[in-house]
Amino acid sequence: MDEADAAAVAGDLLSFSRFDLVPEVLRALRERGYHEPTPIQADAIAHVIAGRDLMATAQTGSGKTAAFLLPIIDRLHRRHTGRLNAIILAPTRELAAQIGEEFQLLARHTKLKAAVVVGGMSMERQLHKLRKGAQVLIGCPGRLIDHIERGTVRLDDIEVAVIDEADRLLDMGFLPQLRCIMHKTPRHRQTMMFSATMASAVQRIAREFLKDPVRVEVGGVSEISAPPETIRQVICPVTAENKGRMLLQILNRPEVTSAIVFTRTRDRADRVGKLLVHGGVKAIVIHGERTQGQRNAALNGFRNGIYRVLVATDVAARGLDIPDVSHVINYDLPEERENYVHRVGRTARMGKSGQAISLVTPQERALLGQIERTLGITLERESVEGFDHLEISAPKPIKVFSSSRMRIRPSRMRAPAF
Ligand code: AMP
Repeated sequence: MDEADAAAVAGDLLSFSRFDLVPEVLRALRERGYHEPTPIQADAIAHVIAGRDLMATAQTGSGKTAAFLLPIIDRLHRRHTGRLNAIILAPTRELAAQIGEEFQLLARHTKLKAAVVVGGMSMERQLHKLRKGAQVLIGCPGRLIDHIERGTVRLDDIEVAVIDEADRLLDMGFLPQLRCIMHKTPRHRQTMMFSATMASAVQRIAREFLKDPVRVEVGGVSEISAPPETIRQVICPVTAENKGRMLLQILNRPEVTSAIVFTRTRDRADRVGKLLVHGGVKAIVIHGERTQGQRNAALNGFRNGIYRVLVATDVAARGLDIPDVSHVINYDLPEERENYVHRVGRTARMGKSGQAISLVTPQERALLGQIERTLGITLERESVEGFDHLEISAPKPIKVFSSSRMRIRPSRMRAPAF
């Protein structure tokens, strides 16, 4: 250990050093600017290092990626076998790529290598990386199965398996692939599962894949965990035909420095994207029908500030870590309640504050009611300048049984005519 490492261990990394991580990892943490563990890291890492299985329920942006990567890197660096010893399964290509990037940063002082295996990208390049010898494989279940069937990936030496965003993997219908992959790994493996919710399907696969897991919950978990308190969430009542104008008006507010606008369908994302570009907003669209190249270009452009607004379907709602998103705007409410939580979790990352604004038409009131009941809160109603010339009655306030949060009872509000 060099002098800088020693100082770090003695000083600002004291709290990470209590896990007895190898110096190479502590050094990478310091360079990454992680000075102390986030709550999920504090709760999970010691158990994982001790070899326990883990079932973690965490809010978005909680630092869960490092919570599973740090013990994996530490373990494989101590006993470098040169074989494929860990797999990490994620629901989307973007999330897999993001985990791969975090791995590069945290494992930079070790000789460990990771291969990211996802659809939509050259099989050849992925094979090349695999042949060069990766100890960690990060991927989406579909492409991984392709590799297993071709015999280009063998899972006989897997010691650790991570199932990230398990609820989303199940929503996307990946259970058969998940089973097939897990059954190809040795039974004595260590397994970690992360999920934003503890829906019954998630509990079922936890029983199937995990052995006597340690349960870690961050942020008070119900069936669906509520978004962090640092996000100010409001509802703007609007008619369907006024949504576009209202969106432009909101995006023109000076405080909207960087926003993700969510729509229900790809087609609507394209249309909203065009509307914004027409309206002089620097916007780009991302959804599942775009090529991987287009998706990467959109994300990178948004990350780098070339675009101020990213218009997205739910493909971009989960797991993506884009710092400094000031606003999430639900142009359409999501049809699946839990996607509300994932969408709004794209702002206010790592303790920063942010705003989530949902444009809600009378037709979407039932969806809104479901979301509010699930979260156990009534979201604040707000009118938008220029759209408040007529008064309408608000949706009925919901009954809340399980929340200690302040409830804002909407009685009357101002909004456009229907
Ligand atoms: P995740 O929930 O894994 O997507 O992480 C959310 C964000 O937290 C990412 O930007 C990470 O780089 C950051 N992060 C993770 N762990 C820490 C830590 N201990 N200190 C500061 N930032 C962290």
